[in-house]
Amino acid sequence: MGSASTSSRRASSSPGWPDASSRPTRSTHAALFLGERRLLLDAGCASSIARFVVPSLAQLGLDLEDLDLLVVTHSDLDHQGGVHALKAANPGLLVSCGAADVPLVADPEALVMGRYDAFRADHGIGYDDETLRWMREESGKSEPVEIRLTGGESIRLGPGWQLSVLHVPGHSPGHLALFDSRSGALFSGDCVQGSVYLGLDGTPKLCPTYTDVDLYLETVAKIEALEPRELHGCHWPAARGDGVQSFLAETRGYVEQIDELVRGSLTEPATLQDLIDRVNSRLEGLWPDGPAQELVYSLHGHAERLVEQGLATRDRSRPVVYRSSA
Ligand SMILES: [Zn+2]
Repeated sequence: MGSASTSSRRASSSPGWPDASSRPTRSTHAALFLGERRLLLDAGCASSIARFVVPSLAQLGLDLEDLDLLVVTHSDLDHQGGVHALKAANPGLLVSCGAADVPLVADPEALVMGRYDAFRADHGIGYDDETLRWMREESGKSEPVEIRLTGGESIRLGPGWQLSVLHVPGHSPGHLALFDSRSGALFSGDCVQGSVYLGLDGTPKLCPTYTDVDLYLETVAKIEALEPRELHGCHWPAARGDGVQSFLAETRGYVEQIDELVRGSLTEPATLQDLIDRVNSRLEGLWPDGPAQELVYSLHGHAERLVEQGLATRDRSRPVVYRSSA
């Protein structure tokens, strides 16, 4: 990889992201809670409101004005992109998200720069212009967040029915999940990701995209201790009974596997791009070029964690070079 200005890897498509210009390649689930208060968990992409949310509500005899509260699990375009459209149609809707995610949820440009384009300056890695244009479009227009949740709150939906708010960071700093103690179901967003995101056709579309390894592992432990009877993530089939703990074990196992592969890849100095290429080759080339670039989120987290642990160094060159100090 050369300098930041010339070496941005082209992501050949927007792997794993719902593609507004064609048929969706994978799904995002938004949960609707119908108590005395009506709560929508996640807003989808900007285009999702007209395409999916309005028709789904209509099937229930509802429209956007019937919603009382929106909880955005975390700062990503497929979870926050529809916030502006929801609020424009229903000014009485209360918009909430995790406190640490507020800056990115409230400002789509901050989302693009702070999340999707975060590796360009230091690592020379970023999406191509076409993908960034699509990301800006699907991130929607800016919309203030009215309620900042930090975990520990409970949201009363009706008599005897409340949801507990959990702070479950790792994929994003302010990530939230909602626990329904009546059913024992946890609505987990993207806070635990197993070992892969599958597409609607059942094939692998996207690798796990946690960003902070230690926080992510703490979140796995927190959910294990909670022992939910059901786990409803936004991009994974619902898990029930023993399936919940096995999904959590798969989530942790993937992190441990990648950590080992990153350490094994640092026998020679490596840029973040080198780490992506080396780890993907050790995954037996699991991912084609575009989707392989999505490893950037987790591998950056693993490399920075090795630096924090004193097991690697990060030099001042651009792109940054990591070296093992073990
Ligand atoms: Zn997502």
